Amino acid sequence: MSYMHPEIQIGPIFASDLPGCHECLEDRLIAGDPKPEYTKAFWETYDQDPKAGTRGFLEHHALIAAGLARSLAEEAPGATRSLYTYHVLTGEIIHHTFVPVSTCPRWRESGLNETTARKGEVL
Ligand SMILES: [Zn+2]
Repeated sequence: MSYMHPEIQIGPIFASDLPGCHECLEDRLIAGDPKPEYTKAFWETYDQDPKAGTRGFLEHHALIAAGLARSLAEEAPGATRSLYTYHVLTGEIIHHTFVPVSTCPRWRESGLNETTARKGEVL
């Protein structure tokens, strides 16, 4: 779960059976980001100072994010490629399917391919 105003991202759930990795997720997020230089700057700041950033969340935002996290946890016993984005200003919740980058060794070893993945909504 991460919060980059105005969106809270919930998921995917990484586990040993998830084809793909956190680096793939970062690549996908940056590829779809309208201002990737800002996002990268935030990530670097948080990497250097884990105490930087939001100190708390509004109760209703936390409740919605927790509910979406529970939904993901109930979706599968292990990993899930699903993730949600919750827009805190509009209240919109969008479901995405995480598709690792084609060069990811874990993705290639999974036996899945992007043609199969394109059937769903792709992050
Ligand atoms: Zn990967």
